[in-house]
Amino acid sequence: YRVKVATSGQSALEIVAKQERPDIILLDVMMPQMDGYEVCARLKQDAETKNIPVIFVTAMDEAVDEEHGISLGAVDYITKPFHLPIIKARLKNHIKHKLMTDQLESMVWLDALTSIPNRRRFDEELEREWKRAQRSGTTLSVILVDVDHFKDFNDQYGHGAGDVCLKKVASTLAASVTRAGDLVARYGGEEFIVLTPETDIAGVRVLAEQLRGSIEALQITHEHSSVLHRVTISAGYASVIPEHGKSALVLVEEADRMLYCAKRAGRNRVYGLRELKVARKISD
Ligand code: GH3
Ligand code: MG
Ligand code: MG
Repeated sequence: YRVKVATSGQSALEIVAKQERPDIILLDVMMPQMDGYEVCARLKQDAETKNIPVIFVTAMDEAVDEEHGISLGAVDYITKPFHLPIIKARLKNHIKHKLMTDQLESMVWLDALTSIPNRRRFDEELEREWKRAQRSGTTLSVILVDVDHFKDFNDQYGHGAGDVCLKKVASTLAASVTRAGDLVARYGGEEFIVLTPETDIAGVRVLAEQLRGSIEALQITHEHSSVLHRVTISAGYASVIPEHGKSALVLVEEADRMLYCAKRAGRNRVYGLRELKVARKISD
């Protein structure tokens, strides 16, 4: 293990906040200024640190002390004088458990094929950002992306090649969306979705067009595509300042309608209200 030592409760909290998050914390109880119980309580209050297992190692050996420590959320309570091999053995067990939990946690939120966030993660983030935008009165935008003629791609090159293609599309989209707070997720089979807080309709249109261009630029051959003989995407985008009482789903539904229009208009293009209006004027 790599070990970091803090000589006070305060500095322990600082290390956890600023540096690489530890897999486990061994914590004394009796310390000047801030005692170990307080440190533990603070770690457990913060969503960022609450899952780091804490083991108390202390001379406070009364049953009530141990009960208090465990009730604060510690996974273990070891009293002094301790036997080092026992501490090591317990530590090993706890760390094994922690790493397994981390792995499960990431599996819950990541798409297995593409390793980008999955739909569950998107749904959670959308809810959170919807509420945040409601409070601040800012604009929330989404882009719904769908690979063009992907069924034909699979039919032509096989499902394995289809999977490789989806991975490339996913990593390219993810690499093109770089602003902190933006999220790219796999929404379904060959559909992806981008969530961009504090971005207005003009900004999201530019981003959608960048995404379209970045996939075209990959130049993945797709002979049977009627579009370009390469893999392309269509995208629908939508923006809204969330109103109270409305569901975040209206935003995704609007983007989905726009995506449908982009497909009908010929694919390898992005659609939002502006494109829709232009298209209607032309057809008038
Ligand atoms: P459009 O341009 O209208 O979107 O046509 P499309 O063929 O892309 O649309 P359709 O919805 O008919 O087909 C989607 C295809 O995506 C069908 C499905 O087999 C494929 N697909 C979905 N998920 C995966 C996946 O994980 N791997 C692979 N290889 N293919 C997938
Ligand atoms: Mg589709
Ligand atoms: Mg498709």
